Amino acid sequence: MEQTPSAAPPRVLTVAGSDSGGGAGIQADLKTMLALGVHGMSVLTAVTAQNSLGVQGAWELPAEAVRAQFRSVADDIGVDAVKTGMLSSAGLAATVAGLLAGLDAPVVVDPVGVSKHGDPLLAQDAVETVRTRLLPVATVATPNLDEVTQLTGVRVEDEAGMRRAAAAVLEHGPRWALVKGGHLADPDAAVDLLTDGREEHWFRARRHDNRHTHGTGCTLAAAVASRLALGHDVPEAVAGAKDYVTGAIAAGFPLGSGLGPVDHAW
Ligand code: PLP
Repeated sequence: MEQTPSAAPPRVLTVAGSDSGGGAGIQADLKTMLALGVHGMSVLTAVTAQNSLGVQGAWELPAEAVRAQFRSVADDIGVDAVKTGMLSSAGLAATVAGLLAGLDAPVVVDPVGVSKHGDPLLAQDAVETVRTRLLPVATVATPNLDEVTQLTGVRVEDEAGMRRAAAAVLEHGPRWALVKGGHLADPDAAVDLLTDGREEHWFRARRHDNRHTHGTGCTLAAAVASRLALGHDVPEAVAGAKDYVTGAIAAGFPLGSGLGPVDHAW
């Protein structure tokens, strides 16, 4: 007897780099998407040779390859939400911004700058392109404190600083800014601020004493995109994504001899 095909899940696209160690980048994104019940797709921007100790090498794909992957996915399968991660260079950031400008779906921009080990994932001269081309097409931009300083010049030391930083991000055009305060000094809490300039939502999670947090930022942005594709509004999507990443951090495990990854099977 022929089986009735089940309904297709929402389609979520990550435009990001590959982490050969499986902890961050598209690998983290696709695991997050699987865990949250959406169909994950990927447009690869760069390949990194990477493990728990850092990034040993990175190779960018040609813009033509990025465009072709995007067209293959968008023209046939369709996209209900997108997240962007490592974009590597000004050229690729501009290419991706151009592709997303023509897409009718929410876009989560994780303005990835450097890895936790300090390895550059975006060229210095690409910051301007991210600021002027990518932020304007974002539904939600998700900078951490280093990235917010790089993008806006605002240095953040406390929650008042997070508010100023979020306002500075919004000036560049995203509908919402999610400023991630995980690097603030508070030993007990990880605090994030989501705002569209009118509403303010503060998210506080207990800080877990776990250094195996590789892939945290990728996972959060991918979870926001997944939940947007599932039909949540932005504050609901971020609240659920924050719960997901908090659980994944709590379950992060040692791997190799350095920083292990967050766990998606918690
Ligand atoms: N590698 C790739 C390909 C990434 O996209 C990212 C983050 O976006 C990282 C590494 C950095 O991950 P983390 O800073 O969590 O170690």
